[in-house]
Amino acid sequence: MRECGDCGKCCDGRFKAEIFGVPMGNGIKCTYYDTKCGCTIYEKRPEHPCRSYNCEWLTNEDIPDWMKPTLSNVVISYKKHPTDDTLSYYNVMEHSRKIDSVVLNWVLRWALGNGKNIIYEVEGRLYTIGNERFLETISKIS
Ligand code: SF4
Ligand code: SF4
Repeated sequence: MRECGDCGKCCDGRFKAEIFGVPMGNGIKCTYYDTKCGCTIYEKRPEHPCRSYNCEWLTNEDIPDWMKPTLSNVVISYKKHPTDDTLSYYNVMEHSRKIDSVVLNWVLRWALGNGKNIIYEVEGRLYTIGNERFLETISKIS
């Protein structure tokens, strides 16, 4: 498994959480996040949400090194459906700026070439690719 290193894309205030009782979110970064070197308590970071959340770049070797969130400005998260794996999907979210065309191209080829369900963001709008069941389910709830 890779290490987050200088990345803190999930610590910089986009996601809501409490770290040792101190809230972050709504643009307020985690109190332990240093914008230059990442988490300052990495070895001691709490189980929830820090250790229990792994973006796909961190754990999935199919994702190339250059897709690191600090380089690609996207964060990919796997959303496993509890009972029906045909409805599991990858969430590909822009972070800090509009998704780059090279990154978007890679994401689309990866999803289409491997039969992945994805929800991806372009300039804040959400789009989907996936199997028929997944697309039907998403269209009913959106
Ligand atoms: S976005 Fe991924 S690599 Fe970056 S800090 Fe979060 S889990 Fe680590
Ligand atoms: S404790 Fe570290 S890993 Fe957890 S949110 Fe804060 S900066 Fe990120």
